[in-house]
Amino acid sequence: MSKIVIVGGVAGGASAAARLRRLDEAAEIVLFERGEYISFANCGLPYFIGGEITDRDALTVQTPEGFRARFRIDVRVEQEVTAIDRQARTVTVIHRKAGETCGKTYVESYDTLILSPGAAPIVPDIPGVVTAASRVFTLRNIPDTYRIKDFIDRTRPGSAVVAGGGNIGVEMAENLRRAGLAVTLVERADQVIAPLDYDMACDVHAHLRRQGVTLRLSTAVQRVEETPAGLRVTLSGDTNRSEEMLTDMLILSVGVRPENSLAVAAGLAVGERGGIGVDSHMRTSDEHIYAVGDAVEVVDFVTGQAAMIPLAGPANKQGRIAADHICGRPSSYSGTQGSAILRVFDLTVATTGINEKTACRLGLAYDKTFTYSNSHAGYFPGAVPMCIKTVFEKGSGKILGAQIVGGDGVDKRCDVLATAIRAGMTAADLARLELCYAPPYSSAKDPVNMAGFVLENLLTGTVKHIHWHDVAALPRDGSVTLLDVRTTMEYDNGHIDGFVNIPLDDLRGRLAELDPHKTVYVNCRSGQRSYLAARILSQRGFDVYNLDGGYRLYHAVTGDADVPAATRRSGDGSPAQTPAGQQQVPPCQTQRGRDARVAEDARDTKTIRLDACGLQCPGPIMKLAAALKDANAGDVVEIRTTDPAFAGDIDGYCRRTGHAFLGCTNEKGVAIARIRKTTPRASSTVGSTSTPAAGGNGKNFILFSGDLDKAIATFIMANAAAAMGRNVSIFFTFWGLNVLRKPKQPNVKKDLISRMFGWMMPRGSTKLGLSSMNMGGLGARLIRAIMKKKHVDSLEDLIAAARKNGVELIACTMSMDVMGLKSEELIDGIKPGGAAAMLAHAEESDMSLFI
Ligand code: FAD
Repeated sequence: MSKIVIVGGVAGGASAAARLRRLDEAAEIVLFERGEYISFANCGLPYFIGGEITDRDALTVQTPEGFRARFRIDVRVEQEVTAIDRQARTVTVIHRKAGETCGKTYVESYDTLILSPGAAPIVPDIPGVVTAASRVFTLRNIPDTYRIKDFIDRTRPGSAVVAGGGNIGVEMAENLRRAGLAVTLVERADQVIAPLDYDMACDVHAHLRRQGVTLRLSTAVQRVEETPAGLRVTLSGDTNRSEEMLTDMLILSVGVRPENSLAVAAGLAVGERGGIGVDSHMRTSDEHIYAVGDAVEVVDFVTGQAAMIPLAGPANKQGRIAADHICGRPSSYSGTQGSAILRVFDLTVATTGINEKTACRLGLAYDKTFTYSNSHAGYFPGAVPMCIKTVFEKGSGKILGAQIVGGDGVDKRCDVLATAIRAGMTAADLARLELCYAPPYSSAKDPVNMAGFVLENLLTGTVKHIHWHDVAALPRDGSVTLLDVRTTMEYDNGHIDGFVNIPLDDLRGRLAELDPHKTVYVNCRSGQRSYLAARILSQRGFDVYNLDGGYRLYHAVTGDADVPAATRRSGDGSPAQTPAGQQQVPPCQTQRGRDARVAEDARDTKTIRLDACGLQCPGPIMKLAAALKDANAGDVVEIRTTDPAFAGDIDGYCRRTGHAFLGCTNEKGVAIARIRKTTPRASSTVGSTSTPAAGGNGKNFILFSGDLDKAIATFIMANAAAAMGRNVSIFFTFWGLNVLRKPKQPNVKKDLISRMFGWMMPRGSTKLGLSSMNMGGLGARLIRAIMKKKHVDSLEDLIAAARKNGVELIACTMSMDVMGLKSEELIDGIKPGGAAAMLAHAEESDMSLFI
């Protein structure tokens, strides 16, 4: 009878133990687990913290007693293996309780040893992390989970910083939002979820922001300090300037390192990244010792290179393979391809195989495509779009990797693509896959087939393509034709600089407008209509390139901005206002004026409900426009759509047409937007949306001055204009910014010059002087007294009224930078903006005043 000792009782260890018993009833199996629990659900831990999993017992898949009873395995919890004697084939074991040594050390012999010790969260060497330990957390096991959950239940924190935007960090950000905290997610790289490429991560960034997570990309936690007010966290960005914020707790999820100390001490071979070296049967450099799971170095299935890929699926399979081999079966592990999936609020993100970053780093001859498809037939309710990025080998078309971001059905498509990669399939194979179809589940051409068709078209030269990152370099000097074949309305709602619009359906009739000697670069919303245009043109002799992923992808990537979420200021400690998972997208502030204007219309009105789910752009907008045309002034149109970009587009549409955007909620990938029809200048016909925004009746003030009298005059005029239902914005630049300063200096880190500037300038509206007759502040006090006597609102009241009336207050970011002012020093509700924001408002106004 052979004796097998296993170190580690969770994914890899427990699965090896169970398989061993199934194969060998006679074997003596001893399983050592350092912690109190075995076979627990690591992957479910974040959801217990967020409150989705409520039953503590649900986290343990198997108890030590249950495991013993079912498999007759000698399970020894709270017993840590501290050494391996390879010659004697023994391990040294210490009995620990809650991490403390509480029993004697003893030696256990083995014939075969399996190591499955996993990987530990990295605790970065950040000053203060250890001393502030009561508010700093990592998440690996059940005790960690209870510690976080108990802290939240006991102290009711208002805010959290999550350091690290990997899968666990993003899951924690979501679950802390669910638990009602304001969350700032800090990530050193310029994107979250590293297995995604940046272009695919942009939609995730936008979604996180929409859910109220403040994203701080290209930023690292530099220092942590416990203060009476909470944790002071110092962040450093790529500008080398540091910034401080107060928070109630910090979650460190910056990665894991393999638990290799036992293996290293025993002299087993270890790879460059610290993973225990194993052969295809999971055997280490010692034939009597196997190793599995997060602690081992694997072969990347696609590249053949050594890799560390800590995932539960591989750990479980490796445990089974090791058990097989110990019992004389020839099972072998053929590598890990990193198939992973994760929920990010309403989005699903899945990856398999290698990404473009890896293909590029390895110098592979690869290409990529982006395809947008619906989860199921568009005409059947509830279809949601997904974007698939496929990385493939040039020439052969062999699939190297895929990334999918979407909602329903992402898991299924990524699994099909994972299988295709395992089978060494090519583009042609994907195109020919026969997959299940009925309208509620898929389309006759499944998204995976669609990806295959597009790849095939490229490989056969049926179409040539360019990518979003090639667009900036396209000549704008007339030497080439830049063509946008979307509808006029879509084009008017936003287009790429330099592209001219000929809608696809007009193209054949307007060919004469195109010079056949010039190369044509064509785009549409997703790349599908522009592909049709490319075929029309290339068959007439044009040299044509299609923009892969279209305007949708281009806009998502070029519009990705690392700005705090509109709904939440970072580190202010205020609790979340809206339940996570059903986040209110705040209506554009410029809308508030219109809301006031339509309040009158709102009496005796009705709500018209539209279902535009499954419709591709411009379908939802066209449906909306038609409904608004028939609606009465004041009626509210509530439209449900599954186009993820709709929530972003609808605000622009309303701005152009004059209707009031009342906001947008999101429920499981379905955006529900509410728009109120307005009386004046609102025209809801489709064609009307192409009316240029210039010449609107908004009022645009530029407050350059920091004088009390000029500020009062500005706010009186702004409030009057807002009361007339005009969209009003005030752009504060240079000395005008002083009007917006908080009277009390918040705790922000500034250099000496900025601090000096701060001391010299008036701190907020109450400290402003008059432009003349100030008399050392006496004039200002006099004017305030007179205003009070004559019942004229004070400047502070005027500012409050302006904010209430929906006047948009924009702080010039350039001036703030020059004057060393931080956004935390300004009163709440101020939008950062540049000259472009000011000019956009000027174009939508019939009056701009520089004061
Ligand atoms: P583990 O499951 O970590 O087990 C190792 C065990 O060994 C530990 O319990 C440890 O206490 C014990 N041990 C270590 N050293 C000793 C010793 N000397 N003596 C005795 N015992 C010892 N993967 C996915 O694929 N999908 C997911 O959604 C997912 N979500 C995750 C969420 C969280 C919060 C975490 C922490 C991980 C997640 N993972 C996920 C990763 C997945 O859990 C791991 O890849 C998997 O558990 C690795 O299995 P393992 O057996 O190698 O290590």
